Amino acid sequence: MKKWYQLDVEQVEQKLQVTSNRGLSPKQVEERQKKFGYNTLETGKQASKWILFIKQFQDFMVLVLLAATLIAGMLGEFVDAIAIMVIVLVNGFIGYFQEQKAEKSLEKLKELSAPMANVFRDKRWEKISSRELVVGDIVKVNSGDRIPADIRIVKSNSLETEESALTGESLPVMKHATAIMRDDLDAGDQVNMGFMGTLVTRGSGIGIVVGTGMNTVMGQIASLMSSTKKVPTPLERKLAELGKILIVVAILLTILVVGLGIIQGHPVYNMFLAGVSLAVAAIPEGLPAIVTVALSLGVQRMIRKKAIVRKLSAVETLGCASVICSDKTGTMTENQMTVKEIYLNGENIVVTGDGYDIEGQFLLGKKKLKVDYPNLETMLLYGQLCNNAELQVKKGKYFVNGDPTDGALVVAARKVGLNHLSGDNYKIIKEIPFDSDRKRMSVVVEDQNDRRFLITKGAPDVLLPRCTYFLEDDGRKLLKERNKEHIEQAIDRMAEKALRTIAISVRPLSKDVPLESAFLEKDLTFIGLYGMIDPPRKEVKSAIAECRQAGIKTVMITGDHVKTARAIAKQLNLLPEDGLVLEGSQLNQMTTDELEEIIEDTYVFARVTPEHKLKIVKAFQKKGHVVAMTGDGVNDAPAIKASDIGISMGISGTDVTKEASSLVLMDDNFATIKAAIQEGRNIYENIRKFIRYLLASNVGEILVMLFAMLLGMPLPLVPVQILWVNLVTDGLPAMALGLDKPEDDVMKRAPRSPNEGVFARGLGFKIISRGILIGLVTLIGFIVAYQNTPENLVYGQTIAFTTLVMAQLIHVFDCRSDNSVFDRNPFENIYLIFAVLSSVLLLLVVIYWPPLQPIFHTVGLDLRDWMLVLGLAAIPTVLFGFTRK
Ligand code: ADP
Ligand code: MG
Repeated sequence: MKKWYQLDVEQVEQKLQVTSNRGLSPKQVEERQKKFGYNTLETGKQASKWILFIKQFQDFMVLVLLAATLIAGMLGEFVDAIAIMVIVLVNGFIGYFQEQKAEKSLEKLKELSAPMANVFRDKRWEKISSRELVVGDIVKVNSGDRIPADIRIVKSNSLETEESALTGESLPVMKHATAIMRDDLDAGDQVNMGFMGTLVTRGSGIGIVVGTGMNTVMGQIASLMSSTKKVPTPLERKLAELGKILIVVAILLTILVVGLGIIQGHPVYNMFLAGVSLAVAAIPEGLPAIVTVALSLGVQRMIRKKAIVRKLSAVETLGCASVICSDKTGTMTENQMTVKEIYLNGENIVVTGDGYDIEGQFLLGKKKLKVDYPNLETMLLYGQLCNNAELQVKKGKYFVNGDPTDGALVVAARKVGLNHLSGDNYKIIKEIPFDSDRKRMSVVVEDQNDRRFLITKGAPDVLLPRCTYFLEDDGRKLLKERNKEHIEQAIDRMAEKALRTIAISVRPLSKDVPLESAFLEKDLTFIGLYGMIDPPRKEVKSAIAECRQAGIKTVMITGDHVKTARAIAKQLNLLPEDGLVLEGSQLNQMTTDELEEIIEDTYVFARVTPEHKLKIVKAFQKKGHVVAMTGDGVNDAPAIKASDIGISMGISGTDVTKEASSLVLMDDNFATIKAAIQEGRNIYENIRKFIRYLLASNVGEILVMLFAMLLGMPLPLVPVQILWVNLVTDGLPAMALGLDKPEDDVMKRAPRSPNEGVFARGLGFKIISRGILIGLVTLIGFIVAYQNTPENLVYGQTIAFTTLVMAQLIHVFDCRSDNSVFDRNPFENIYLIFAVLSSVLLLLVVIYWPPLQPIFHTVGLDLRDWMLVLGLAAIPTVLFGFTRK
């Protein structure tokens, strides 16, 4: 049997029952999807749910607790033993669900950032998720894409792919469409095939899918691919380290408590169980896990704001961002181009109409021009031939499939009645695609009389030096300095109006000129200029202003003309009076040191290539900035990787940039970056809030026991009570803090330093001071109650227990503000209210419901008791509310 690469395109089509001009029908797609399944590689087995559950108990102190409980049970303390077991089990369940939740949201994330494919089905190009592809689908790939399935190439425009993932060979391979007759070729030699997962480094192409999912070359070696490991974020790492210290401190203090207790004459066994419980409660072993949950919840909130975080660590880094370097076109602007002016025969011609709507006119002064105006048809027709976009209608509205810049040219041509059929008499025999380095695109075409010529369009300042002639209404002339100046003035005029400029040119070719850019793109004849508008996105101006307030500088980066860039920067209020605008050519001449010197004052980089972006990132980083950098093209990947927060475009971005980035903007919108930064700051603040809450609570718990032992008193809390506090009071409210609203001033503070420690900005003081007071008031409650009725120890313990719980539940509101509890409306966070209420409810159940009283060593309290409890419990929070420290 013949292999795919040995077959002609027609044979492939026949075999797969598809034709290039129609694509598969919906019915065929459905059948094939049923038969062959999704186009995905099966990944390794997931950890079983049981293992995840059991993992919750492998913590050392929990094991010690379980062992101690077992001993208690054997010694006959059944009630205590069972109560402790239940609490530990419930704790395990909660940990399990939290972890599941985090896992699920990460999974969902993967789906969202899954690669897309451009497919031709039922006579229509559409974008679908790559996993929906089936054998027989016709797909288009562009530079920067990962090839979504194994394909037999049917059309190649300078298509080159990099297949090192399969062959180990890192040099790009040129691809073409003709069948190869040889037998037994390796994948690397099948140059008319494209393989799943390999990268398009240049050009574009069309192919028919011949293998999907595990039936691809990549599928065969899928088992060899390592699954990606989850790397901890900086904060998670810092917390894990801190956790180790806290464990030691907690254990030491516990030993102290136990030792003191034994010296004071408490039974060894009692003290042991109390000590272990205390250690379990005081060790914040769950902290990294809750942080992960908080981060992934934040990630979900970001998704709702159209920002997909690809690396959890980016959530943290986002909050530290101090510079955003953003592409202009498409990110700050709408990327909906409309030709507003053309320059032809030395005249400025106005083009009316908005957006991609095809209604509009060409006006020279008051005169309406028709297609027979000299050179107009040539210019518009060539603009259509040297083009990669297609105008489509959906529900009576026009939109562009492809590059918006190209789309604008198609629309302009339509306005004088040229449609896509006008180009049918021409055959395109070669295309040199546009890229941001070259800033131009060329095609070689042949007309009906077999005459060959080259059409090149691109940035005027790139094209003009390659022009030797120019076109006037009476024919081709030699381009003299004087004429050049004239054209340059026209360019400036357009650019100052914030118009994006494109020049178009032509060159007749004899057949012996080799079809390579070096031989082709010279001796051109300048035809004219297009000036197109790309309006700024509405929300960007205010987003930039908000960023400025938040101490974040916004920098515009663009391949466009300096004047266009400057004009748009002015509109967006991004460029201050004394702000600098730098050009790519100036960057070339500067050393890194020179650039560093002026970079703080620079706001716009124009006519840059992707290489410059890297230089810019590095210069900002050297100045101590945390840099967010956007990008969309293949060549942007290195800059994105080098930046602290790489940002790629969900709609217009290539797979390579998406893979290199840590944040994907689903709507390509600058304002979304701001939203993500805001969310990133908020998440970090919320994490600080619950670290503060948990640790202050733990300090209180340990201290009350320690103080009591020092004073030679009985145990103020029994083990089950300690564990209950750990489960209920410490659990629910802490999670609710993770969902807290930001304080009003999060976007008015300067960005946080990435080196900031966990206890920075007074957090350590807050934890210790509140912790000490919580411990003290609990002890006072215990002493007061115990002094009155020494025979009724359970009563004293109930007062202590209740005071501790209530003090914590009041203190949780304190944690919501960096300043004072009085600065915030306590009812803002509905989750927190709910968490506190349910904790109170559970507390009431435990102390008032008779069946539970013996288990939790409690008695019912009366009104006077409650006044004592609440009065004491409020002290830590109210006191510090006034100090604002
Ligand atoms: P940016 O995305 O920052 O606007 P680009 O690299 O896309 O920068 O474009 C730089 C210049 O290249 C534009 O100002 C324009 O003159 C030219 N250009 C843009 N798109 C095309 C295209 N499709 N074909 C030819 N030239 C183009
Ligand atoms: Mg662009």
